[in-house]
Amino acid sequence: MTSTSSPPAEMTVLSPHDGTPVGTLPCAGEEEVRGAIATARAAAPDWARTSPEERGRLVRAAADALAQHAEEVAALNTRETGKLAHEALGGVLAGVGTLHQYAELGPVHRGHALRGGALASDYTVAEPRGVVAAITPWNDPVAVAAGLLGAALVTGNTVVHKPSERCPHTGARLGEILAAALPDGVLVTVTGGPETGRLLTDQADLDVLAHVGSTETGRAIARAALDTGAHVIRENGGNDPLVVDDDVDPAWAAEQAAIGAFTNAGQICTSVERIYVHRAVAEPFLHALAAEARQRNREAALAPLVDRRMRDAVHGHVRAALQDGATALEGGEVPEGAGSFYPATVLRDCTDAMQVMTEETFGPVAPVRVVDSFAEGLHLASRDRYGLAATVLTGRIAHAQRAIAELPAGTVKVNNVFGGAPGGAAQPRRDSGAGFGYGPELLDEMTQVKVVHVEMPSSR
Ligand code: NAD
Repeated sequence: MTSTSSPPAEMTVLSPHDGTPVGTLPCAGEEEVRGAIATARAAAPDWARTSPEERGRLVRAAADALAQHAEEVAALNTRETGKLAHEALGGVLAGVGTLHQYAELGPVHRGHALRGGALASDYTVAEPRGVVAAITPWNDPVAVAAGLLGAALVTGNTVVHKPSERCPHTGARLGEILAAALPDGVLVTVTGGPETGRLLTDQADLDVLAHVGSTETGRAIARAALDTGAHVIRENGGNDPLVVDDDVDPAWAAEQAAIGAFTNAGQICTSVERIYVHRAVAEPFLHALAAEARQRNREAALAPLVDRRMRDAVHGHVRAALQDGATALEGGEVPEGAGSFYPATVLRDCTDAMQVMTEETFGPVAPVRVVDSFAEGLHLASRDRYGLAATVLTGRIAHAQRAIAELPAGTVKVNNVFGGAPGGAAQPRRDSGAGFGYGPELLDEMTQVKVVHVEMPSSR
């Protein structure tokens, strides 16, 4: 068991816009956590026996209920995490879409068959694992939670969901809306911070620990599961590189870099976290990237960071880089005033050992390192402990193919920082996690396979 300290009685969320209190909710202690698991466990047999079609129908109804409350939930998210209103609404609608997708996929989640002889067959049936603990982050709280919850529920598991302490009202409301459309006890929400999370993951009576969040937490959860035997799904942090080749339009590359580094103020797991640009296009690229950042800062287009703790961490990376010889072409200073705003920041002359290059910064920061060849860019992009995603911008098919073959990441994107089909899945590598946290493959993670072997009785 991992060590636990008791949760505080309650938590108060402060607005990232102006620091005023948004609201206070209780933090679940041992008794509440055990009670939530017992409720989900008691509901598990009936839910597992419910036909996949009926489970799909109920999850679809839950998705429709969420769609009806989309603006309310999005507004809560904006108040708690600072996410821009249209992006928060986009996140809720993405969650609705994901729930609908799983409602359709659940009933057609199929197995394999093998014939060992004329009258002997082997086939697989997918069974629910039991009770799933879903532990989710704040940066896209509804879309991320909807994926884990949808996949777990349509495959016949019951769920205890613990949303992030940075958006507990959003998580609690999401739980109320979805649970009202489902049988009692099938989805239970507990609110609280890391201490409540630890209490949850230490309980032996859980079958799956599904975590989306930081690498450090993911590791702690994986260690807890060694003791309890729970199946672990981890979608964790990233330090995604962007490699810019010498044959691309530097203004377009800068636009891509800005979208990758500054969207949601850089608080996306697959944000562009470090940039390797070919020397041949470096100056116009840097010029255009600084202009992209300046425009965002002038128009106050960026959301605030989620809180001051996050801002201190982001600025710590920037300050250390500046002390070690980087130059800020734009941003890089903590603004005056209330809330936790941080400007879009472009750093040039970054070197490989700087924390801003080696660690996930999770803020609107674009650190740039100039390279002498595409190969050097790929080499440096590959030298990292994370393996979530990577992007290359190139017009050369040979370079694209080389990047696809060599980059040690779960997703490699060519010529679009945020490309990717809806419903797509990816397998994070190394410190970025384990297992499939999205897509149809998440249905496999949420189930256990039973092999059935059938033959004719012998007649003598
Ligand atoms: P976090 O790990 O701090 O928190 C996520 C959840 O884990 C919260 O509910 C939190 O209370 C809980 N938690 C924290 N410590 C715990 C512990 N010891 N035991 C059990 N639960 C615990 O992450 P965060 O700051 O909320 O989210 C940001 C991170 O999430 C970034 O690193 C980002 O890259 C990552 N992320 C990854 C993906 C992905 O798909 N790979 C998606 C979104 C966010």
